[in-house]
Amino acid sequence: MDRILNKFTPFIISLNVIILHILGYVLDLYAPRKYIFIIWTSIAFIDAVFAFRCGMMMKDLRILAYTDKLTELYNRRFFVGKMVDEMKKLKDNDLGISLLMIDVDNFKIINDTYGHSSGDLVLKELANIIKPNIRARDTITRFGGEEFAIILPETNKEKAIIVAEKIRNLVASHVFRFKEDERNVTISIGVVSVRDQVDTQLLIDLADRALYKAKERRNTVVFSELGDLVV
Ligand code: GH3
Ligand code: MG
Ligand code: MG
Repeated sequence: MDRILNKFTPFIISLNVIILHILGYVLDLYAPRKYIFIIWTSIAFIDAVFAFRCGMMMKDLRILAYTDKLTELYNRRFFVGKMVDEMKKLKDNDLGISLLMIDVDNFKIINDTYGHSSGDLVLKELANIIKPNIRARDTITRFGGEEFAIILPETNKEKAIIVAEKIRNLVASHVFRFKEDERNVTISIGVVSVRDQVDTQLLIDLADRALYKAKERRNTVVFSELGDLVV
């Protein structure tokens, strides 16, 4: 039923508008002249309510399309668009832009030990730890699985590393409570910064490369240079 409704929703809405207007014309033909203004004002009002509700629905759908349901952070789809937008703005500032790629260490152990729903709670808690500790103009997204990406506009290498270390420390010092147990969870972070515009995928690849290196030790921040990708 849902699938049929989804498929036909645009037609159902259009049909409603058509019926409403035909009704308007019929009333226009047969109703006394003094009511014409009221008839068409009412129809315009119903139209406006319809359009407003459709607009609200579109707004909700856009939010839904760009939000990760579990953590309530932006999702990867949003990240990609935002990264492109921020890259375009780059020439206006001389600090550059930085990207942090975060991966939870040994997350599979959490799932295996405490269950998948406890793992989910850890991801939510991580989002709640990190989000208040970045600037409003920074963008934290759930990149996928147990990975988060943070875009830091107007942030150079030195500042980005300070932010990454702060986040790593915050997480490492947080005690995660499970039903009958408590433990620490750590994260590894790959950092990359550029001063000039580069392809966003290149930046992501660089951050991934740094993260890969950080994973050698875990609970570590590693910075990747632009030259690292040139082979
Ligand atoms: P490493 O330190 O090398 O990153 O080890 P890891 O165990 O974190 O990495 P691995 O890739 O082996 O496992 C990641 C796990 O994350 C496996 C997957 O089931 C789990 N995972 C991915 N998304 C979710 C999720 O939404 N909720 C839960 N609970 N687990 C998830
Ligand atoms: Mg991972
Ligand atoms: Mg992991």
